[in-house]
Amino acid sequence: MIILVLNSGSSSIKYKLFDIKEGSEKFLDKGLVERIGEKIPSHKEAIHFILDKVGSQIDAVGHRVVHGGDRFSKSVLIDNNVIKAIEDFIELAPLHNPPSLLTINESRKLLSRVPHVAVFDTAFYHDMPECAYFYAIPYKFYEKYKIRKYGFHGTSHRYVSNHAACVLKKPLNELKLITCHLGNGCSITAIKNGKAIDTSMGFTPLEGLVMGTRSGDMDPAIIPYLMEKENIDVNQVIEILNKKSGLLGVSELTNDMRELIKERGNNKKVKLALDIFIYRIKKYIGSYMAIMSGCDAVIFTGGIGENNPGIVEEICKGVILKDTSILMIPTDEELMIARDTYCISKT
Ligand code: ADP
Repeated sequence: MIILVLNSGSSSIKYKLFDIKEGSEKFLDKGLVERIGEKIPSHKEAIHFILDKVGSQIDAVGHRVVHGGDRFSKSVLIDNNVIKAIEDFIELAPLHNPPSLLTINESRKLLSRVPHVAVFDTAFYHDMPECAYFYAIPYKFYEKYKIRKYGFHGTSHRYVSNHAACVLKKPLNELKLITCHLGNGCSITAIKNGKAIDTSMGFTPLEGLVMGTRSGDMDPAIIPYLMEKENIDVNQVIEILNKKSGLLGVSELTNDMRELIKERGNNKKVKLALDIFIYRIKKYIGSYMAIMSGCDAVIFTGGIGENNPGIVEEICKGVILKDTSILMIPTDEELMIARDTYCISKT
């Protein structure tokens, strides 16, 4: 089955093409259409461009959708009800769900005879225990506004946990795993017997680990304090916490790990940024070991997790118990999306 996977952002669409059969997975092609809104007028033209490139022999399409709210616990065949639900969750993911919808709607028009499948970043976390996803704020805000931890990067954590089970030669449902996705965005997930039981990203991707440009965990009282001191509004503070904080904010140099590692010995702020980054991950690993009563393997993925054995070693130093494996596994969210699309489309 030839499967096209589409991953849409506000100004770009990434695609990958696979040939999936029972017992065989073949990668065929990939590409990126950038500068939508400038070089290419809209998502509509971008989809036309991609379909012209990959040819008409597509049997199914898998779409990455960031937010499935509290509704989707797994990937689903897209119909009008699913479209409506993704629209409803725009409120929770104003930057991410709209471009996915544009892409889904246009590609469903052009490839109307093939199944389209939505694979949600949040679905892996749907069944976390209440105590992990509830915030200790008045209950009514959960009821009125669905404020809870949703978690993101779920497709990546699911992919590497499956792969880790193969490497460890044990069934996933007998393993306690901690998966660290360390890219520009960073998140960490506790996976017990194949199910995510806690994760570091929250109501939005801002919570949790120190990231390239996001602060991760901090005292929310800093927000009004900064508003007053800097004479800025709440949107400006949120912009600072999302785009000007994290490794970039503390180092005052860059969010690029390669450059930070080079400068670490010469620059105090760079050293501090890396120390906070590593310390925060260590704390989460320790807490996830505590809630799972141990851990069989800690897995590292994403641009930082896949390429920096030195950083991985520093994170794990002193934390890892005797029988815990440490694995570095390249993620492949698109392959996971293609697998789900295959399973749903073949039935
Ligand atoms: P995104 O979250 O945007 O997909 P990536 O997963 O590509 O990001 O990760 C980006 C981070 O990975 C950057 O900090 C980058 O410096 C780091 N990175 C990528 N390749 C390497 C490498 N070969 N060695 C060290 N760090 C790398």
